Amino acid sequence: MRIVFDQQPEVGFGISIGRHAYMIVQHDQRTNRHGDEVQVSIWRGRCAECGAAFDQYTRMDFAPESCRCAEHKRPGKRATMTNTVSEGAR
Ligand SMILES: [Zn+2]
Repeated sequence: MRIVFDQQPEVGFGISIGRHAYMIVQHDQRTNRHGDEVQVSIWRGRCAECGAAFDQYTRMDFAPESCRCAEHKRPGKRATMTNTVSEGAR
């Protein structure tokens, strides 16, 4: 379920989602797919796989969703048993 804020939380704002804690470290702007400048929040969290700190950005009024660093995120490429076997067989 999406957590949505009424307004953009301040830098330093922290939130816990499940067992994962995130904190806003910066406000920034990004260009969305329509070419519009949008205000975003940069969140810092720790990867559920390796524990490394990583940053992710969300729309200004959205809470973070990812709980993995860029290296472990890879949607659809989870380390399933099948993947592990095929990679080890290379
Ligand atoms: Zn990781």
